[in-house]
Amino acid sequence: MSDTSPVIEKIELHPVAMQLVESLQTSGWNDSFRPAIMVEIHAGGQVGWGECVAGWTPGYCYETIGTALHVLSDFIVPALLGKSLEALNRTRVTPQYRGHPLTKSAIDMALCDLNARLSGQSLSQLMGQSLAAEGATHRRERVVVGVSIGIHPTIDETVAIIDKRVKEGYGRVKLKIKPGWDVELLREVRRQFPHILLMADANSAYTMDNLATLKKFDEFRLLMVEQPLGNDDIYEHSLLQKHLETPICLDESIHTVDDARLAIDIGACRIINLKVSRVGGIRPAIAMHNFCYNTGVPLWIGGMLETGIGRAANLIVAGLPGITLPSDISATNRYYDPDLTDEVFTLDAADSTITVPTGVGLGVTLNRDRLAVAEDAFARFPKTKFMAPSH
Ligand code: MG
Repeated sequence: MSDTSPVIEKIELHPVAMQLVESLQTSGWNDSFRPAIMVEIHAGGQVGWGECVAGWTPGYCYETIGTALHVLSDFIVPALLGKSLEALNRTRVTPQYRGHPLTKSAIDMALCDLNARLSGQSLSQLMGQSLAAEGATHRRERVVVGVSIGIHPTIDETVAIIDKRVKEGYGRVKLKIKPGWDVELLREVRRQFPHILLMADANSAYTMDNLATLKKFDEFRLLMVEQPLGNDDIYEHSLLQKHLETPICLDESIHTVDDARLAIDIGACRIINLKVSRVGGIRPAIAMHNFCYNTGVPLWIGGMLETGIGRAANLIVAGLPGITLPSDISATNRYYDPDLTDEVFTLDAADSTITVPTGVGLGVTLNRDRLAVAEDAFARFPKTKFMAPSH
């Protein structure tokens, strides 16, 4: 059958920088003024949007806003222009180029948005239909979410912020931890909030030398401890998990279904944090979801401080039936004010949920005026600041 599907006519890259409503300090870096690349793909008279969440520095992974711009403009965009959507839908984004999942995720997201828009349907509904065809449980219309709380100067300040978030209606709290900012903090938070769903994210700040400390986490009834050891490690996590009652959740070290299979087979984790960007986009995320769903591994959706575009994608994937734990997707007012999208995501305080967008495509509308302001902020920001060694 001949391929008569629309071809990619134009791809525009919009690097942006935006102030976060609240900065987020992790064990390794601080986010307060975030970059992103909004990707705009034109085909068949429609436009699809995607978002690249690579940061200023290679803190979370090796990708940065600079590598993403380079790989997109010098390799991926030229490889896609003029290609038919049908051909692109048959493969992953530019499989001939290795790595760079955060960068490829932006393209995959824009293609998913574009495909759904060309069919006049919402991506969420399209995913629901394909689930039904496979006999899986129907997608959720609202997803349970939690809040991620960074490292603050004192335990009292942290407790005050948790108190505020719990009163706003967030039913699960994740604390960023690091050596020296862990046992005492967790003990006090657990004492003051005996019933909240509590978890900790170390972003690879520990080694097996910290085993005695990590074992103490068991007394705090944590939902999980996320990525305690090396960012690219799976094996040592399997050694650590044998010593802990608390389930280990892997984030940074799981990029592919093969990584997930290995981690589960050797007992390196009992839970996986599924990030759309880290695995290379919405379609790879669905593949990871299907593997974990079929093997009974609990999942939740992790966040990368996305704008409304990336957050819509996260919410849509979070509606899949295998996402059984609260996801790191907070309401719009926790991130950017204003956001790049017209739609605002709000928390339903009654059950700590956010509604999955069901408008056409990703279900959100990019605001071109705000995009122009954020692009200008990126253009004026002195990037060389991030090339100097930090202290
Ligand atoms: Mg994490």
